[in-house]
Amino acid sequence: NTYQVHCGYLSFPPANGVLVTFDDVTHLETAGQMRRDFVANVSHELRTPLTALMGFIETLQGPARNDPVARDRFLAIMATESGRMNRLVRDLLSLSHVEAEERIRPGQSVDLVGLVQSTLRSLAPLAEKSEVTLVPELPDAPLAVPADADQLRQVVTNLLENAIKYGGRQGTVTVRLSHMMRDPALRSPAVRLEVSDTGPGIDPVHIPRLTERFYRVDSHRSREMGGTGLGLAIVKHIVNRHRGRMKIESGQEQGTTFTVILPALD
Ligand code: ADP
Repeated sequence: NTYQVHCGYLSFPPANGVLVTFDDVTHLETAGQMRRDFVANVSHELRTPLTALMGFIETLQGPARNDPVARDRFLAIMATESGRMNRLVRDLLSLSHVEAEERIRPGQSVDLVGLVQSTLRSLAPLAEKSEVTLVPELPDAPLAVPADADQLRQVVTNLLENAIKYGGRQGTVTVRLSHMMRDPALRSPAVRLEVSDTGPGIDPVHIPRLTERFYRVDSHRSREMGGTGLGLAIVKHIVNRHRGRMKIESGQEQGTTFTVILPALD
């Protein structure tokens, strides 16, 4: 632990003496270290595409100036790299918005069934591109939760996008919704959202760290898939804001299931 030590002279006769206090400031040290790590990570993540962009601009201004084939190829790479920076900035802004609102209880009544259906529609092209079959197992009646609709959509989108991206080509992604009369941990009626894939799964040693910012099991694969490493960190903060909880279950060669449990309206 880290302590801040204060010394002072006390003069209250007859109790004259020296007062020494020890403040445990370990939590401040840890928070400071986390902030420094975060800034270092962000800088590194931004610098990689930026360095590539600067390199290609220089080449286009110099040696490749009159080479139309090289120019087209380099411009395509530059578009990919600027897209990467754009997604990173978008996710950083989302994270900071969610963090800023973490103490404000969301007040809209949102139907999760409708929200999952419309998210599935918007992700259909991505699934088609990866030859992934999306299987909805949804109740017929609406399931209302007190929520922030945009944030909840982001939870569903991030989990489904990951399942499609990491679940492997020609896999199946199942999304289930169900109502629970009482969740034992939340001690209230709840709604359970489950997103399962049939991918190669995640080694259990990684699971506790998956929701950390910039934590990736396979950095190369994540980058190739256009990932920022922030998706699950954003999900975790949104779930916390909704007073819910999240579970990750995965076995190697058994696929992965992300479960989010949210308090429901009584
Ligand atoms: P990323 O932008 O890298 O996808 P996330 O925070 O969304 O960042 O996910 C963190 C890491 O968790 C990913 O890089 C990937 O290694 C792993 N991951 C997330 N979802 C799955 C999944 N459904 N199957 C296997 N690995 C996953």
